[in-house]
Amino acid sequence: MIVALDGPAAAGKGTLAKRLALHFDFAFLDTGLLYRATARHLADAGGDRADAAAATAAARRVAASDLDDPRLRREEIAQLASAVAAVPGVRAALLAFQRDFAAAPPDGKRGAVLDGRDIGTVVCPDAAAKIFVTASIEERARRRLKELRESGVETIYGTVLQDMQDRDARDSRRQTAPLRPADDAFVLDTTDLDADAAFAAARDYVAGKLAAT
Ligand code: C5P
Repeated sequence: MIVALDGPAAAGKGTLAKRLALHFDFAFLDTGLLYRATARHLADAGGDRADAAAATAAARRVAASDLDDPRLRREEIAQLASAVAAVPGVRAALLAFQRDFAAAPPDGKRGAVLDGRDIGTVVCPDAAAKIFVTASIEERARRRLKELRESGVETIYGTVLQDMQDRDARDSRRQTAPLRPADDAFVLDTTDLDADAAFAAARDYVAGKLAAT
C-alpha cells in the first residue's frame, strides 16, 4: 500500500505524512530531502546552480546516509533544491531511490508514505492513496515564519512570503514533473484546519482506500 502525499512547501505535508506512517505502521520517506541532499552536494562541490551536468552528478551521489544532515533544513538549501529539481537528469537520477523505497519499504513494513511534489503523478502513479495537501500562501508563509523563529532564525514575514512565492513558481512552472494534484488525488486544504483535523481527514481517506484493497 503506497500513500502519495504531494503539495507545496509548508502546507503541512511532513507532519501529516509522519503521523499517517505511524498510525498505519508504514515506512516514511520525505523525498524533498533527496533534492536537498543533491543541492548540498552541488554546493559542497562549488557547482553552479545553472550547471545541469554538475547537478545531475550531485544527484547520482545521493545516498540514504546523506538524508539526516540537519543543514538540509536551511532555507538557502531549499531554494537551491528547487532549482536543481527542475533539471530532468536530477529527477531521473533520484527516481530509482524513491521507487525502490515504495516497492520494498524498509523494516518489512507493509506500506509506505512518500511525501513530495510528484509522487502521485510521476513516482508512484499507481499509488492506492493520493493526497494533495495545500493551504493559502499567506497561511503557509505564517507557518514557515513561526517554524523559522522557533528554530532561532531571525527573519520577517515579507521575506518568507517572497521565498515561498519564488519556490511555488519554480516548482509549478517547471517542464519536468511540475507540482500539481494527480487527477485522482484527494485535495486537502489545510488553510483553516489544525494538524489534528487535517490528520483525521487524511486518516479516514487512507483507511477507506485500505479497506477497498
Ligand atoms: O519538500 P521540500 O521543501 O523539502 O522540497 C525541497 C524542494 O525539492 C522543493 O521545493 C521541490 O523543488 C523539490 N522537490 C521535488 N519533488 C519532490 C520533492 C521535492 O521537486 N518529490
